[in-house]
Amino acid sequence: NFLKVIKENNDSINAFIELNEENALKQAEAIDAKIANGEEVGSLAGLVFGIKANINVEDLIISAASKTLENYYGSYNATVVDRVLAEDGIIIGITNMDEFAAGSSTETSYYGPTQNPKAMGRIPGGSSGGSAAAVAAKMCDISLGSDTGGSIRNPASHCGVIGFKPTYGAVSRQGLLDLSMSLDQIGPFAEDMSGIALALNTIVDYDETECTTLNWEKPDFTKDLEEKSLEGMKIAICNDFIEVTDEEINKTINMAINKLVDAGAELVEVSFDHIDLCLPTYYLINYVEFFSATRKYDGRDYGYRIEEVCGDEVLRRIKIGSHIAQAEFSGKYYKKALKARSLIRDEINAMLENVDLIVGPTVPKLPHEIGDELDPMEMYAYDVLTVIANLAGIPAGSIPAGTVNDIPVGLQIQAKPLDDEKIIKAMSVFE
Ligand code: GLN
Repeated sequence: NFLKVIKENNDSINAFIELNEENALKQAEAIDAKIANGEEVGSLAGLVFGIKANINVEDLIISAASKTLENYYGSYNATVVDRVLAEDGIIIGITNMDEFAAGSSTETSYYGPTQNPKAMGRIPGGSSGGSAAAVAAKMCDISLGSDTGGSIRNPASHCGVIGFKPTYGAVSRQGLLDLSMSLDQIGPFAEDMSGIALALNTIVDYDETECTTLNWEKPDFTKDLEEKSLEGMKIAICNDFIEVTDEEINKTINMAINKLVDAGAELVEVSFDHIDLCLPTYYLINYVEFFSATRKYDGRDYGYRIEEVCGDEVLRRIKIGSHIAQAEFSGKYYKKALKARSLIRDEINAMLENVDLIVGPTVPKLPHEIGDELDPMEMYAYDVLTVIANLAGIPAGSIPAGTVNDIPVGLQIQAKPLDDEKIIKAMSVFE
């Protein structure tokens, strides 16, 4: 059925850039056979996944939506992919994205832009726009994306689906093509909370091949889905987040927050002094780490030399990243950015000492029409509310809050490191 929907609608939506049709059908048949034989099946049996084009899947083209890697076949499975397959999840194809995940609109893909299925003509957000659109257009049950500064939450918000960025280190990045390795985290999209919880149960785990993964007693994320009571939870709204957000979006967000209060949460107001530092700090760190990550694309091991074929945004990051990474500038830019990152992390963690969750808009403005020419600063402005979680390593999710002019708007919920489960609990109130 999903293949049928993809064949009917993918030409117009462009959520998938590669299909895994034959293998997906084989996998489905194998699961059917197991069931027929009375054998045990995995927790994802029959659930169909789309995988972002920067997560390695063996034998599929993993291009990160760049011409640089247009002929690169995944040579192994990312840890998350192995885990999904081990639980009998079916991989139906590879989803579109901004080139190397550097963007917020999915317009910079070498394979052309993805449409927003809930607001045709507009961007789906990014960089995991294909993964969000695939779920929104009912082309798969669950998809995986990566979130470095909002790339799961931003397209989830614009496409009216649920997206979740786990605590940094909760999910293995082994097999992910890095954008910025101290910020990147893989996470799921789904239309319902059970999809999100099942995916997290599968992909959250310690991985001895990935040194930043955390070895902790992980919860069963499906456990709280039915409870729907937030009695005893303290949630904060932050005035500084509201101030940077369009008024219409704030109205919708307030209605969603009322639902959390109706479920028993106590609401308090907080402020965040370092909001102005967030974007400059994030982009500086991102440029430097991305420049470093791209040195392997020198045309010898994989495809083309990146500088010769990439788009403008990727080239901008490489050029500026190389400039600010020079030893003589390190005190001026990079070390300063690391100091600013500590200030941001400390302020948000201090806030989370007193409350369980911080709630507010995911994205401060509505998605633009595909083709509208935004300058880099206008594009980066989409990220002001999402980069904080990556800079601080905290978990954050986006859940549909309602619409403004028929365009979906997401509510962002953030928590302390490893309090991912509390976010799941709050999100389940919306079902
Ligand atoms: N829009 C942000 C950027 O361009 C975030 C991207 C992401 O999370 N991958 O860097």
